[in-house]
Amino acid sequence: MIPADLRAALELFAGLPRVLVATDYDGVTAPIVSDPAAAHPLPGTVEALVALAALPGVTVAVVSGRDRATLDRLSGVEEPIVTVGSHGAEWAEGFESPLDAAALARRDAVLAGLEEIAARHPGAAVERKPLGAALHVRNVADAADADGALEQARRGPASVPGVHATEGKAVLELTVTDASKGRALTLIRDRVGAQAVLYLGDDVTDEKAFAVLESAGDVSVKVGDGETAARFRVRGPEDARAVFEDLAALRA
Ligand SMILES: [Mg+2]
Repeated sequence: MIPADLRAALELFAGLPRVLVATDYDGVTAPIVSDPAAAHPLPGTVEALVALAALPGVTVAVVSGRDRATLDRLSGVEEPIVTVGSHGAEWAEGFESPLDAAALARRDAVLAGLEEIAARHPGAAVERKPLGAALHVRNVADAADADGALEQARRGPASVPGVHATEGKAVLELTVTDASKGRALTLIRDRVGAQAVLYLGDDVTDEKAFAVLESAGDVSVKVGDGETAARFRVRGPEDARAVFEDLAALRA
């Protein structure tokens, strides 16, 4: 079900000559599942994105916190859809800015620091990322224990100069560059000359994307509950799919 005000914004958006349709992956195109390796797109969602990408004047992008290889494999999307991994840092052409020796040293230190914390909190897991590492506490049985692990990470590895922390749902992600989903959207918008950008996201990291959608025709959509700077909201991945399908129909 698409709210009436969002539907009206989509109609205006669909009429613009050049647009960028962008989306987060987990929680938007793919429902959240307990095993991140099994997070596959909702049937019909990728089909709608492919249909949009085939229309004149439309660029489609999937922007995720996951590393790009995993994002491509799980989502199954291919060119001409643009995929950007590692919160805006990892592109088809390679990294936007390769890590220098100091950043590589920071990444190793972050990884070691988080692994130490995870070892003290059963259920916690560390995910290596090309540009840093993430501490996941979703499977820590005790909520206070999970919070404690995150707090230790904030006070420890996250507080090192040059390390950027991003809070998520039961995850703290640390990167050693200042890439963000917001910067990624701005880069694609400029590259393709889009008059307006649509972006759907469900997590805290997506707020950096919503924050750059300031043009009159931009459409920012929060998926699910929680504080947000987005202008519109839908309930979940089924509604996100409906947004893509509606837009494809309007545009066609
Ligand atoms: Mg997400």
